[in-house]
Amino acid sequence: MQTGHGMANDINSRSRTYCIARSLQRCESCACFTPVIGLVLSAGHETLESGADADGDPEAAAADSWESAETRALLFFVEYLSQTVQRRLQQVSRHYRLEYDDQEGQTYWMNHCSFCGAKQGDFELYCEPEGAFMPISEEEAAFIRLFEVSEPFEALAGGYMYISESSDSAQGEP
Ligand SMILES: [Zn+2]
Repeated sequence: MQTGHGMANDINSRSRTYCIARSLQRCESCACFTPVIGLVLSAGHETLESGADADGDPEAAAADSWESAETRALLFFVEYLSQTVQRRLQQVSRHYRLEYDDQEGQTYWMNHCSFCGAKQGDFELYCEPEGAFMPISEEEAAFIRLFEVSEPFEALAGGYMYISESSDSAQGEP
């Protein structure tokens, strides 16, 4: 993977504003409920669609294109964050940083337990029932709080999930 300059070419999601989501995750190592954070892109955000999907025109086939999304979305398995987003997140959590995930075999921005320091992998947070950002009940969803950040967002992320706007009642104060 390319590093250094030219990072702007490596992002696949961007937005004018975003939200930092905060929730609680039960740590498998110490059994405490640790605070964790996540990223929510505002409605109107854009994702980079691969030009390989373009039909017909061979000249257009090579070009990637930005597609606008009508709903909000969760991002996870985030491999790259722009500097402004990194700085904002570090103000919110000291336990969110780039880390290698042995189970997934990749490095991404990951939460860590605030009590024992254990890794809190994104699979557990986003893909497992009762994960911090995959609530299976209204009571659990109430733990999720969103904080709006009126700053531009850029990232490269492998995980992307639309948020249904019907369950919009669990929002916290700014
Ligand atoms: Zn722990």
